[in-house]
Amino acid sequence: MRIYSDNNRKELVSVICNQCKKKLKVENGIVKEGCFCGNSQFGYFSNKDGMKYLFDLCEECYDKMTAGFAIPVEEEEAKELL
Ligand SMILES: [Zn+2]
Repeated sequence: MRIYSDNNRKELVSVICNQCKKKLKVENGIVKEGCFCGNSQFGYFSNKDGMKYLFDLCEECYDKMTAGFAIPVEEEEAKELL
């Protein structure tokens, strides 16, 4: 989950892993360690039409989650580094 300085989401203050509650390092509004940001909006053909879902995972929890996949996560080299 992400905590912002105000309701306008102006400055990111804190990021907490939804799985293990680890507080990730945030400096000047920037996450300074590995973080998976889940962000999905379901559409008309789902049972969650119109709902948006947000969550964050620390790198360790991301690795645990994806290790359980039947088909591995696709990997490719990023063209723009974060
Ligand atoms: Zn975690």
